Amino acid sequence: QLQTASTSPYGVKGKVGRVPAGIGGRRLRIVVTGGAGFVGSHLVDKLIGRGNDVIVIDNFFTGRKENLVHLLGNPRFELIRHDVVEPILLEVDQIYHLACPASPVHYKYNPIKTIKTNVMGTLNMLGLAKRIGARFLLTSTSEVYGDPLEHPQKETYWGNVNPIGERSCYDEGKRTAETLAMDYHRGAGVEVRIARIFNTYGPRMCLDDGRVVSNFVAQAIRKQPMTVYGDGKQTRSFQYVSDLVEGLVALMEGEHVGPFNLGNPGEFTMLELAEVVKETIDSSASIEYKPNTADDPHMRKPDISKAKELLNWAPKISLREGLPLMVNDFRNRILNRDEGKGL
Ligand code: NAD
Ligand code: UDP
Ligand code: UDP
Repeated sequence: QLQTASTSPYGVKGKVGRVPAGIGGRRLRIVVTGGAGFVGSHLVDKLIGRGNDVIVIDNFFTGRKENLVHLLGNPRFELIRHDVVEPILLEVDQIYHLACPASPVHYKYNPIKTIKTNVMGTLNMLGLAKRIGARFLLTSTSEVYGDPLEHPQKETYWGNVNPIGERSCYDEGKRTAETLAMDYHRGAGVEVRIARIFNTYGPRMCLDDGRVVSNFVAQAIRKQPMTVYGDGKQTRSFQYVSDLVEGLVALMEGEHVGPFNLGNPGEFTMLELAEVVKETIDSSASIEYKPNTADDPHMRKPDISKAKELLNWAPKISLREGLPLMVNDFRNRILNRDEGKGL
């Protein structure tokens, strides 16, 4: 049942005023869109662990109930099957807006849906934030820098993005989402926060996600060759998921709008990444070269000085420390799948 301004304990900004969280023992209520996905489910664990009430909105396009199954039955947790392209009415204090497929394979699968999710989904969540006076955090991406001509990338760099390419539904979609967030901030007074997330890995990534870390790890476990696209000299900077989650919470709770780069500055070629996977999982793992995809950025590395200075945040876990932390989860799921148990 819908709560109206007069019955909601949350009130409506500018009408009855917001009740600050914590007063009268009231817990912070937080929505995480895309909370059944890889990053979202780790964020939800963190928020529940901090004593918050959490509502997940997810259409399960790339997310899985298994990522949240341990929370089902917890009275502080709610899971709603909903597509953010459609409007929704809720009463909350904060919105972490993650809903959007993140792997190139997934976001190119139905590009029109991807751009609708980025544009209409973000618009709806900003409309919701405006109506209820909630703080809104957008998970944007390093892809807004496109195939960057500046290296490493600072937040002041405007990017080098193809507006009509196969990746545009995602990178231009996220650029529009950032524009919407800033326009709701400037024009409607919504408290927004913008994170530009760089490549992140960890347990619960989809096995067939198509992203390079999940591909290499799954291939090495299955004793298949690791597929290196192109010459393997392109670079990425890989961040462990718990570092990202800490950054997102610091950003939401801080006083700065951003955008902030959240990533690990350690930069690796894909061939170097394959070497680390080999050292971690199977020293006999081999490599197979495949053609690269269109518009693949040649290099990517965050400059994180702004987040260090203003959020007091920096990643703690190097690639060599983080990779082993996802291997057991991948092994178990691969075993279950190969035995026909799904997951
Ligand atoms: P993911 O695909 O695992 O999770 C995305 C979640 O959003 C899934 O649970 C999916 O079902 C849900 N979703 C997608 N479209 C939806 C819709 N229309 N309505 C409701 N739910 C929808 O991806 P992830 O890696 O967890 O990424 C989460 C967010 O972080 C995304 O916005 C992504 O763009 C951003 N990001 C991630 C990375 C990374 O390396 N993981 C890098 C940059 C940005
Ligand atoms: N919206 C929503 N939930 C709300 C408030 C708004 O989903 O609680 C949606 C609304 O349907 C609209 C979008 O957010 O499509 C933008 O809302 P806003 O009020 O900014 O614009 P308007 O409705 O005036 O076009
Ligand atoms: N890549 C690869 N092998 C794979 C998957 C990806 O060599 O099996 C490369 C891809 O061409 C890109 C980099 O790894 O240069 C990162 O790709 P990913 O899809 O993980 O994320 P992106 O940073 O492109 O969004």
